[in-house]
Amino acid sequence: MKALIKFLLPITLLVSCEAPKGAEVLATTSVVADAARQLLPPEVEVQALMQSNIDPHSYKPVEKDVHAITSAQIVLHNGLHLEGKMTEILEKVSLTKPVYEMSESLTSLELITVGPNVFDPHIWFDLKLWERCVSELALFLIEQYPEYSVIIESRSEAYSAKLLNAHNTFYNKSNEIPDSLRAIVTAHDAFSYFGRAYGVKVKGLQGVSTAAEFGVKDMSNTADFIVKTGLNTVFTETSVNSKSIEALQEAVEQKGGKVRLGKPLYSDALGEQGTKEATLIGAFKYNTTQILNSWK
Ligand SMILES: [Zn+2]
Repeated sequence: MKALIKFLLPITLLVSCEAPKGAEVLATTSVVADAARQLLPPEVEVQALMQSNIDPHSYKPVEKDVHAITSAQIVLHNGLHLEGKMTEILEKVSLTKPVYEMSESLTSLELITVGPNVFDPHIWFDLKLWERCVSELALFLIEQYPEYSVIIESRSEAYSAKLLNAHNTFYNKSNEIPDSLRAIVTAHDAFSYFGRAYGVKVKGLQGVSTAAEFGVKDMSNTADFIVKTGLNTVFTETSVNSKSIEALQEAVEQKGGKVRLGKPLYSDALGEQGTKEATLIGAFKYNTTQILNSWK
């Protein structure tokens, strides 16, 4: 027996020292990874390149990310320049492997324009719009994994129903609140699609990218908006530095108003794996609970 252990030990060590195998499906953000996990059977490994709390606008791939992207079999990303610093590498790998962009199923008429040929990339918190993106992703995944086509199709159908159910539930609840109260202020403009879908006025201190600067005027205008609307809460975001929102709170006080900091909302990243908020629907339910509470 001892001889056997002596013989087996070096083999075990050899195996555990091997370089980690690339993920089958690599998604840039946790939101995109969640969509793929909802559709694929658990046998297909899906990894997110950016973990929770990571801001995709400013994320620069480091060497280990380049390795992860090049060793994955399929790469999924949001598109519309959400992953602003990854454009080049995504273009490069698309020459050698399937690279899928979640926003490609939407037309420019459905997108929110923020500049000439520039669109807001935060498409996922309009659950009806995202349902379209996920259904199209299912078709792409069926092409890639024909052996799982029946499973993917049935998971896609069930997930679509869940997304639409969460969409309708919040839509109805939100519309019970008087129009004048339905507003949120957040650190950056990640909630414009959300606002459009559910009839909520949204104002972000920074623009659609956290890379944008904000000035004294933005701060003052946003503080005026809060005082005028009578909002009692401003929200920080889990993937964005909260300093700007804390400064806004002071600016509101200087104008004679008072506003509290709400619990951070999930915007460009979902919660940590193992929590309810690690899924888009979980994060949506969490966000909308905080938002509904702020209107009370
Ligand atoms: Zn963003």
